Amino acid sequence: MLITHDTECALSILVELLNTAPEACGAEQLPDVAALSAFVVGQEISEIDSLTPADLAAVQALRGELRAVFSAETTDHAAELVNALVAAAGTTPRLTNHDHHGWHIHYFAPHAAIGDHLAAELGMALAFIVMAGERERLRRCEAPDCARVFVDLSRNRSRRYCDSRTCGNRLHVAAYRARQRSAEAVTAG
Ligand SMILES: [Zn+2]
Ligand SMILES: [Zn+2]
Repeated sequence: MLITHDTECALSILVELLNTAPEACGAEQLPDVAALSAFVVGQEISEIDSLTPADLAAVQALRGELRAVFSAETTDHAAELVNALVAAAGTTPRLTNHDHHGWHIHYFAPHAAIGDHLAAELGMALAFIVMAGERERLRRCEAPDCARVFVDLSRNRSRRYCDSRTCGNRLHVAAYRARQRSAEAVTAG
């Protein structure tokens, strides 16, 4: 798979970001600027100078645009969505080795607002996935009551749940309980 470590890091931020949306998890996980600020620190997003309510609105809206790439029916449509995102953000690819990271490319313009920053970085990560022919790795969790997204980076592309420690286990527990119930019903009957 032609996916670099840097792209994997961006995809990880992408998944975390999309799963903050109410449509993914039922409640808004980025309700205010403080929550957005915590997200920026937690995800180690660099060159963010200050955050305003307008930044929060931009990031909240961006989630829908990024999520649309996951649900695009065709690769042509996915490519169109990615191109629009990245073009609107304005990118200036440049090499940097800030904070003792090795040399890597920043796609966002220096000190861009966070909405543009994330649109450029996460849009480019999606562009690399499309280019590598790996769009099917952009998945939605198969648990019936879950709408979280994930990127399946497993070798055999067999992952079905957003997080095996939560959704996968939860389903196993539910199946176990259902089996127990039917066993009890048989005994009682
Ligand atoms: Zn960097
Ligand atoms: Zn899930």
